[in-house]
Amino acid sequence: MKIHEYQARELLRTYGIPVPNGQVISAPSEAQAAFAAATAGMAKACAVVKAQVHAGGRGKAGFVKLVDSAAAATESATFMLTNRMKSPQTPPEGLEVKKLLVAQAAEIANRPGGGHEEFYLAITTDRKSRRNILIASREGGVEIEQVAHERPDAIFKEALHPVLGLQGFQAKNVAYKLGFKGKQVGQAAAIMQSLAKLFVEKDCTLAEINPLVLTPPTATHPDGQVLAIDAKFSFDENGLFRQKDVAALADPAEENQAELRAHKFGLSYVALDGNIGCLVNGAGLAMATMDIIKLNGGEPANFLDVGGSASEEAVTEAFSIILSDPSVKGVLVNIFGGIMKCDIIAQGIINAATKHKNPDGSTGFKVPLVVRLEGTNVDAGRKLLESARQQIPTMQAATDLTDAAKKVTASV
Ligand code: GDP
Ligand code: MN
Repeated sequence: MKIHEYQARELLRTYGIPVPNGQVISAPSEAQAAFAAATAGMAKACAVVKAQVHAGGRGKAGFVKLVDSAAAATESATFMLTNRMKSPQTPPEGLEVKKLLVAQAAEIANRPGGGHEEFYLAITTDRKSRRNILIASREGGVEIEQVAHERPDAIFKEALHPVLGLQGFQAKNVAYKLGFKGKQVGQAAAIMQSLAKLFVEKDCTLAEINPLVLTPPTATHPDGQVLAIDAKFSFDENGLFRQKDVAALADPAEENQAELRAHKFGLSYVALDGNIGCLVNGAGLAMATMDIIKLNGGEPANFLDVGGSASEEAVTEAFSIILSDPSVKGVLVNIFGGIMKCDIIAQGIINAATKHKNPDGSTGFKVPLVVRLEGTNVDAGRKLLESARQQIPTMQAATDLTDAAKKVTASV
């Protein structure tokens, strides 16, 4: 599960990590007041308007804008709320922007030798070493993926101790490697340790600050200040049951709608890029079904596990979700009736066939449907399907899994 940047900033704040102030708006008419609030007390008023979507690459796409007047803030807000944001991290059609963050702009110090003082910090799990690790780089900002790819030596890694977390000496070491000096070292190290603590306590899979910036020296902060100005978090969904405050941050508008619908009915559904819809009971069988489709030259359109004891209603819903994906050109049902009874599945198929609405207003399956049923009540299930043949003319029965995969790949 992901959250918006403004929520991520709030979370950083609760862990004592310094973040510039800002507020969220959802209409251009709110930009003027938000600009005034964000820049109150600044010698030279400057704010940043940022699209709040669950994708990065906003800066390059023109969805992060520095503005020095309320009029410019309103103009940027209008642009961002009326255009879809497209970046390498969004679907090709881009994302609709519904909320903006208007925040006090941070002044970023110039780096001796060129560029700005922008750093990258992240905590994630390294599966190879089976440790949570801190990843840090001096080359923060918008090119970090390229840096990681082309100059891996510019990326520093430090493993967190399973019990003690990121220890002070480790954080300081990394701070020195990043080039921080004087009071900056303590500030940067404290941020790293807090981020590591947050990562563990909130069941994150990723906690990223990019960029972490250094501000120019001032009278009150002669060594400058280290601030987080963008953050991205991902949370382990299996931990949400004990992270109620995190779960409350979910934005349904940013989730895949079909996945959301499936979740409501207790179905495990993951949308994929292929054209063969799969309805399977059991995650292992679903994986095997996807494998055998690929083995036979097909591409699955989804992973869908109706579970061990899905109701007839859930199965009907599952069909409706699969068929609502326009790229689905064929459907493979693979059910082993262990806990789930084959006649329930059969009834679900018949119900879906009679209830599913096609875009042209008609009802029923338009796409080929291949069914492989085996297990408890299989004879009753087959009989039910046989009696409904006229309602489902595109249906074929398969004798086994290989036969089913062959039939469905041949039909799309
Ligand atoms: P992203 O492109 O989606 O990762 O959005 P970011 O919030 O990281 O912004 C992209 C870039 O815009 C940053 O790397 C900075 O160079 C610049 N930027 C963002 N916020 C500020 C700010 O408050 N002050 C200044 N000077 N630059 C900023
Ligand atoms: Mn960023």
